Amino acid sequence: MSDQQTILVPQISSFPGHEARARAILRWLVQQDIVAPLATSCGRTGSRMAYAVAPGARRVVERPGLLPGDHAANGLEIVTKRCIYTPTEDFLGEAGCPACRQEIGEALFDSLEEWMPGHTDNFTCPECGHEDDINGFLFLQACCFSNLGFIFNNWGAAGFTQAFLDEFAERLGYPVALVRVAP
Ligand SMILES: [Zn+2]
Repeated sequence: MSDQQTILVPQISSFPGHEARARAILRWLVQQDIVAPLATSCGRTGSRMAYAVAPGARRVVERPGLLPGDHAANGLEIVTKRCIYTPTEDFLGEAGCPACRQEIGEALFDSLEEWMPGHTDNFTCPECGHEDDINGFLFLQACCFSNLGFIFNNWGAAGFTQAFLDEFAERLGYPVALVRVAP
């Protein structure tokens, strides 16, 4: 089985108080026994430090039998720096404007050169001038751009329940995008 990542990201470029909210979400996940309380080397990126899958995770997925076991990468990594999350497989680079409905993917993805260093959180539609947080545009394949992200390593096949995704978004206070990455 090849590694994949399921990433939950709030749909806002600059999440206010993102580090405190990351800690609050982690506390909730630990209380529910969804992840282990201490980070170990069960992630994939950087230091590989992540919070390992725990028994309570079975209650928040559709297919508990497909949760990762002691497979090396099974943990939750929390990213608190600005990051671009796009699918890697068959990514078409398409995006639409919610105001004029034109396809503006090329200009939008080019504009990430300005977004990534934090020069702006916004994108302006080249067709009609509509300006919004870049996450406010339309993505057929879920994409997200934020200073906060939750990477679940190899949980994708198990599939989060809608109830869990709803509560996750409620606790974050923002709509959440689910981005699938198969590195
Ligand atoms: Zn437009």
